[in-house]
Amino acid sequence: MADLILKPGKERSVLRRHPWIFAGSVDRLEGRARPGDTVLVKDAGGTAQARAAWSPESQIRARVWTFDVEQSVDHAFIKRAVAASVARRASHPWLAGQDGVRLIHGESDGLPGVIADRFGPVVVVQLTSAGADKWRDAIVAGLVQATGCSTVYERSDSDVRKLEGLGPVTGLAHGELPELLTIVENGVRMEVDVVSGHKTGFYLDQRENRLLTGQLAAGRDMLNCFCYTGGFSLQALAGGVKSVISIDSSGPALVTAARNVAHNPQLDASRAEWREDDVFQALRGFKAEGRKFDLIVLDPPKFAPSAAHAERAARAYKDINLLGFRLLNPGGILMTYSCSGGIGQELFQKIIAGAAADVGVEARILHRLSAAPDHPIGLAVPEGEYLKGLACQI
Ligand code: SAH
Repeated sequence: MADLILKPGKERSVLRRHPWIFAGSVDRLEGRARPGDTVLVKDAGGTAQARAAWSPESQIRARVWTFDVEQSVDHAFIKRAVAASVARRASHPWLAGQDGVRLIHGESDGLPGVIADRFGPVVVVQLTSAGADKWRDAIVAGLVQATGCSTVYERSDSDVRKLEGLGPVTGLAHGELPELLTIVENGVRMEVDVVSGHKTGFYLDQRENRLLTGQLAAGRDMLNCFCYTGGFSLQALAGGVKSVISIDSSGPALVTAARNVAHNPQLDASRAEWREDDVFQALRGFKAEGRKFDLIVLDPPKFAPSAAHAERAARAYKDINLLGFRLLNPGGILMTYSCSGGIGQELFQKIIAGAAADVGVEARILHRLSAAPDHPIGLAVPEGEYLKGLACQI
């Protein structure tokens, strides 16, 4: 096994158990390693600190599998880590009885570059690092064993793989896909297109926030922006919303949304209107018409993938939230989110406060909105993808 020797002083973040070793911290590699191979990380004085996956093409040159240098990283180690992740979900009461659960959330679960989402009998796995890619077989075997699921489907088609020198890999890794895959989320049946849906097929991180929206919806006129397959809107219909307009720019997502309405004959579909449109344009259109709503959801895609894009992203968040506040009736609620790692909680709140001030409304925080508990943020890894939002009432 090759040794990765850190520059003097660069062991500090490893000692604090941060799992990323950046290119600038690496002094040299002693011995040979192929992408994804496990290397022994040593400080400049030669003391072993961790075992990590080597990724020569990435700025994150190595990702730690274990800080216990006595531990060997092999098939059994990976399977144990997968089983431990699955077991953590089983111990959370909010996840009991859910069909759709994130089983592995990358670094936060000690498995850098590994995402696994369970949708009923199917697990979708997404591998985004050289190390994760190398241990595909162990990850798949571990998932089958720990969950008892018959099917594992791979969706390793995220752009971030390019940063690791990896091409896309998609397809069945184990078993067969059912003709139609649906999950029941908070009493609503939702179709999950694991083959061509976004990411792994469904945005599980918003589960509890969709539930809260349903609980706030009764008797309100609602606008759901960036609706994807309609999760927020269907919960709102279940909660007795008066009317809901849902907007997304993706035609296929709206086709699935229409099928989701059909999967739930208990809901009053006549209260829902679906529009394929650009949200920025649609919001300006509503403003021009003088249209108002009692409940607005803004759940945009990532505007800032990293801190480098933060400034432009901050303007985009300000822009839609200005429009959001403008379109609210008195007493109305804006549920607004960001999933940009580059925009921290504090900055996001400042942007929202600034938008409210510019519109001249007094907004109060009704609820802080966090990602679902199966999407933990690692204690040492705040950089990972996370989500936060605010429900503000004017
Ligand atoms: N709220 C959804 C997830 C939203 S993901 C849920 O609970 O499932 C973000 C969505 O924004 C995607 O569906 C994407 O198609 C859509 N989108 C991205 N840019 C857009 C734009 N400018 N206008 C409208 N929709 C957009």
